[in-house]
Amino acid sequence: MYIDSHCHINFPELAVRLPAILEKMAENQVSHALCVSVNLPDFPQVLALAEKYPDIYASVGVHPDYEDTPEPDVEQLVKLADHPKIVAIGETGLDYYRLQGDLEWQRERFRTHIRASRATGKPLIIHTRSASEDTIRIMREEGAGTDAGGAGGVMHCFTESLQVAEAAISMGFYISFSGIVTFKSAKELQAVARAIPLECMLIETDSPYLAPVPHRGKVNEPGLVRHVAEFLADLKGMPLEQVAQQTTDNFFELFHIAR
Ligand SMILES: [Zn+2]
Ligand SMILES: [Zn+2]
Repeated sequence: MYIDSHCHINFPELAVRLPAILEKMAENQVSHALCVSVNLPDFPQVLALAEKYPDIYASVGVHPDYEDTPEPDVEQLVKLADHPKIVAIGETGLDYYRLQGDLEWQRERFRTHIRASRATGKPLIIHTRSASEDTIRIMREEGAGTDAGGAGGVMHCFTESLQVAEAAISMGFYISFSGIVTFKSAKELQAVARAIPLECMLIETDSPYLAPVPHRGKVNEPGLVRHVAEFLADLKGMPLEQVAQQTTDNFFELFHIAR
């Protein structure tokens, strides 16, 4: 059994062929998926998927790459998160790669999400790109981690250094690996995945993006998360079954989902 801890199956590329996507999940023993919110106008679709399908969970949040979109406040996020299928706040974080200039608004938006996470007890899904120093600093300042009474969360689609991974882990965060770790060029990231304990790891697709080898360049989907698990098992010299089981247990534990 595998779980895709981060996908965007509400995006048009995937939403139009949802029955085939769910079938492919079943074929590959991918039992659950978390459909991650990126903005408020599309949130009703994300929620509708989680309400319709028992094995799909959802989050609420506004992605740092969305510039011209309604800005959430803490109260609003807390209210929207008050639903049994909404298991996380995000995705949120900082992205200095896609956007440049004065990004104070990104940092403010990130703080809003951390405050909503602390208020609801629902963990954060954090996106960080070319911004790890500020990301870790704000996580500490706002008490995002379980070490500071926060709800913790996951550093999703992780591509940073071992030092950043260890800083997040010390705050009670999980590290999630996507298909990027399977890419031939990802030697440094593979070394990070080898070094950190399986007890801190999740797997994800971030579909429709970032299809893992051997599907690189194609449209990604939750059923392909299995390739990430297979790659990690090889990399860490562990039985595939152990990687599947532990990452599944980690998912249920982090998002407080009773089995
Ligand atoms: Zn992301
Ligand atoms: Zn995402």
